[in-house]
Amino acid sequence: MKTNHFDVLIIGGAVMGSSVAYHLLAAETGLKVGVLERDPTYTRSSTSLSLGGVRIQFSLKENILMSLYGQEFFSRFEEDMAVEGERPSIDYRRAGYLFLIDQPGRAAAEQGLALQKGLGGEVEWWTPEKIQREFPLFRADGFVGGTFGPKDGYLDPYGVLMGFRKKAISLGARYFPEEAVEVKKSGRKVAGVGLASGGVLNSEIVVNAAGPWGAEVARMAGFELPLSPVNRQVFAVKPEKSFDRPLPLVIAPSGLYFRSETGGLLLVGKSMEEDETGFGFRWEWKRFTEELWPELVPIVPAFEKLKLVRGWAGLYEVNRLDRNAILGAWPGLDGFFLINGFSGHGLQQAPAAGRHLAELILKKTPTLDLACFSPRRILENRPLGEGAVV
Ligand SMILES: Cc1cc2nc3c(=O)[nH]c(=O)nc-3n(C[C@H](O)[C@H](O)[C@H](O)COP(=O)(O)OP(=O)(O)OC[C@H]3O[C@@H](n4cnc5c(N)ncnc54)[C@H](O)[C@@H]3O)c2cc1C
Repeated sequence: MKTNHFDVLIIGGAVMGSSVAYHLLAAETGLKVGVLERDPTYTRSSTSLSLGGVRIQFSLKENILMSLYGQEFFSRFEEDMAVEGERPSIDYRRAGYLFLIDQPGRAAAEQGLALQKGLGGEVEWWTPEKIQREFPLFRADGFVGGTFGPKDGYLDPYGVLMGFRKKAISLGARYFPEEAVEVKKSGRKVAGVGLASGGVLNSEIVVNAAGPWGAEVARMAGFELPLSPVNRQVFAVKPEKSFDRPLPLVIAPSGLYFRSETGGLLLVGKSMEEDETGFGFRWEWKRFTEELWPELVPIVPAFEKLKLVRGWAGLYEVNRLDRNAILGAWPGLDGFFLINGFSGHGLQQAPAAGRHLAELILKKTPTLDLACFSPRRILENRPLGEGAVV
C-alpha cells in the first residue's frame, strides 16, 4: 500500500475529529487513519474555548440519548483514555445544571422533564423554595421553579480533546500539522485531500470535522452547508462573596448562563442576536457590564459586588437550519462524511457523534439511532425541533 494512502482522512483534529479517529481505531485495529489539523495548538478551536457543559436537559429524544451516553463515557474517560498507564485529566464536576423556569416556559419544561425521565435520565423539578434552600444567595421568587439535572455538570474541554487525541495516536492514528485546501474527487467519489503545503493524501473516505470552518471544507468538496461561525463571548468574574459549594450551570429563561469556575471565579455568558457572524474573536467588557450584569444581579443579588477578571470569545458553528448536528454521509458525494453544526452543545455530544460516524463509515449497525441528524435533511429543508439550544 502506498504511504500516502489512508482508509479514512479526517479534516480537523479537535474534539470531533479526534473522537472519530479514536472510535474508528477502537472498533477496527490496523485501519490507516490520517487527521489533518492545521493548528495543533488549538488556540482558536471551539473545543478549547468551550465551557464544557454536559447536560441531558434537551427536548429532542436523540439529543438526550447522546448526552446520556456522553455522561457515561466521560465518567470512565480518564480510565479508558489512559495511554501506558498515564491518565488524562478532565476534571469532570457533576455540579448539576439548573434551568430557571418562568410561566411562559413552564409547559415546555414539564414536557422536557417527562421525556428526559422516560429515557432514564435523572432530572428533578425544583420549586422556588427548594432553589433558595439549596442556594440561599439566589432569589427565585421571579420563577415558577427550575429543572435540575443532578448528574449534569461540566468538565475541561481541552483535557477531553487531548485524551481523545493521545489515545487515537496510541492506537495508530497519524496527525498531520497540515491545512486541507482541496477535496480531490474521482467522478462522484472522494479520492483524497490536497494540502496547503503542496502534497496530496489519498483516501476514498474523507470526514469534515472542521467545526466553525465546516462550510469552507464543504465548499472544497463542491457544495454549500448552512453553517456559520458565530462569535460568543464568555466572562470570568470574581464575586466578593464565595459560595460554600460549586454552583451548577444555571440557565435563565433569557438564555443568560453562569457557573462556578476554579479559583472562586464565575463564568458568565449569553448567546445574543447581535453576536457577529465571521471568524472574529473580539470580546468587550461592555457586553458584561451593560447587558449581562444587570440580568445577573436580580437572580443572585450578592453578585452586585464582583471583580472583572478576564474574558474570551469562541466560535459556535451554527447550523442555520435548526442549530443541531449534521451527522452522516453527504448524499451527493460518495465517501464524504459530515460531523458538523453542533452550535453550543458539541463537546458533550463528541463521544456519541464520533462513535456514530465511525459506525457509519465501517458499515456497522449504529448503537444509537441518530438518523434524524442525517445530512439529507439539509437538502430536503426539514429542520429538527430542539427547544433547548443555548
Ligand atoms: C464559548 C463556547 C461555549 C461552549 N460551551 C459548550 C458547552 O458548555 N457544552 C458543549 O457541549 N459544547 C459547548 N460548546 C460547543 C463545543 O465547544 C463545540 O461544538 C465543539 O468543540 C466542536 O468541536 P469541533 O471539533 O467540531 O470543532 P473545533 O474545536 O473548532 O475544531 C475544528 C478544527 O478543525 C481545524 N480545521 C479547520 N479547517 C481546517 C482545514 N482546512 N485543514 C486542517 N484543519 C482545519 C481547526 O484548526 C480546528 O482545530 C461551546 C462553544 C463555544 C465557542
